[in-house]
Amino acid sequence: MPERTLLRGFRLVDPVAGHDGTTDVLVEDGLVAAVGPGLAADGAEVVDGDGLVLTPGLVDLHAHLREPGFEQKETIETGTRAAAAGGYTAVVAMPNTDPVTDNVAVIAEVRARAAAAALCEVFPAGSITRGLEGESLTDIGEMAAAGVRLLTDDGNCVGSSRVMRLALEYARPFGVLIAQHPQDAGLSEGWQMHEGHYSALLGLTGVPAEAEEVVVARDLALARLTGGRLHVMHASSARTVAMVREAKAEGLRVSAEVTPHHLTLSDEDLVTYDPNRRINPPVRTPEHRDGLRAGLADGTLDAVATDHAPHAAEEKEREFDLAPPGTIGLETAFAVVHTELVATGVLTLSELIERMSSRPAALLGLDGHGGPVIPGRPANLAAFDLTAEWTAGERPFRSLAANSAFLGRRLRGRPVHTILGGRFTLRDGEATA
Ligand SMILES: [Zn+2]
Repeated sequence: MPERTLLRGFRLVDPVAGHDGTTDVLVEDGLVAAVGPGLAADGAEVVDGDGLVLTPGLVDLHAHLREPGFEQKETIETGTRAAAAGGYTAVVAMPNTDPVTDNVAVIAEVRARAAAAALCEVFPAGSITRGLEGESLTDIGEMAAAGVRLLTDDGNCVGSSRVMRLALEYARPFGVLIAQHPQDAGLSEGWQMHEGHYSALLGLTGVPAEAEEVVVARDLALARLTGGRLHVMHASSARTVAMVREAKAEGLRVSAEVTPHHLTLSDEDLVTYDPNRRINPPVRTPEHRDGLRAGLADGTLDAVATDHAPHAAEEKEREFDLAPPGTIGLETAFAVVHTELVATGVLTLSELIERMSSRPAALLGLDGHGGPVIPGRPANLAAFDLTAEWTAGERPFRSLAANSAFLGRRLRGRPVHTILGGRFTLRDGEATA
C-alpha cells in the first residue's frame, strides 16, 4: 500500500479527543498526518468511509497466544491474525507458555516473533513468580526496564499473601501492574462450573463466587498496605465489582477488567453442556452478570478484556467436565459487547471504545495506542460496520482454534478495517497478511 492513505468520510469516534462526527483522516508514513473534513487526496490512496465508524485500534489486556510451547492451540502469528480480524492493534500476551515468560530472554523472543508476523503489536506480560509456581518473585525491575507493563501468574492465583505483598511493593516504583487471577485454591478445588442451582441440576461440581471474592478482598487490603498497582483480572462476581468500586472511592490504585462472556452469558447457558462454555472463572448467575454490566457502565470495571483462550479441537471435543476451560474471543469481542450492551443502551459507543481501547492503553501506559486520533500520533486504527449482522462461526476463525462460547450467536457490528502503524492488517474484512 502507498505511504499515504486518505480515510475519507468516516464517523470518527475518539473518546480521548472527545470526537464523534464525520471527518477525513490522512495517514502518512505510519502516522496520523491530518484530521478534518474535506482533506485533499493529493496522490494518497483514498478509502471511503461509506458509513463506517473509525476508532483507535482496540487494546486487549488479556490474550493467551500460547507460543512458545503450545503451538497446537495457537501461534503468535495465528493469534495476532485473529486480533487484527477483531479490530485490535495491541494485545498483552499471557505468560503461561512453555517456557514461561518469567525472564527478559523469553519476552524478547515473543516480541521478535510478533514483530515478524507484523499483524498486531504484542506486549508480553511477565510472570509474577518464577515458573508460575507462586513462590519466588521474578526480576520485576529487569522486566520493567525491558518494557514489560503488566505482570501476572494468570491461570494460577498468587495464593501467598506474602508473595503478593512483595510483588506489589517491588513493582510500585516501576509503575507496572500486578494483575491477579483471583481464585482461592481451596474453595475452587475440582470445580466445573459456578456453584448454585444449575450446578446441582446438572450434577457438576460448583465453585462459589466467594472463591474470587476472598482473594479480591485480600488483594485490596494489600494494595492499601503497599500503595502498589493492583489489576483484577476477569471479574466474575457482582460483589467483586462492589469491592473495587469502594476501593477506587477510597483512592486505592486498583483497576479491573471483565470479559465479553462474563458480560453476556450465565450459568443457565450451560444446560447444553457445551464444553466451549466451560470457562475459568465460570460464568455465574444473571444477577452477577448484571452487576458486571453495571460496573462496566459506571467505569468501576475499566476494560473489556477477551481472555482469548484457544484450545485444539481434540482437547475441547471431550465431555464438559474433562474439557480444558476457556473460549476464544478476539474475533467476536467487539460484536458481542456491541450487540448486547450498546444496542441495548447499557453503554454508549464512545464508552465502549473507551473500555476496549483508550482505557486499557492508558492502564498500560501505551503512548501509541488508544488515541487520541490527532496529527503526529501513530496510525493505529480500526473501522467497524455497526449495521452488519453475522453469525459467530459462520466462516472459519483466523485463530487456529474454534472453541468459541458464542458459536451460532447472531451478532450486530463487524470489524472491517484494522490499521497498524499506517498499514492495513485487515482490509474489507479480509486479513492482508
Ligand atoms: Zn485467568
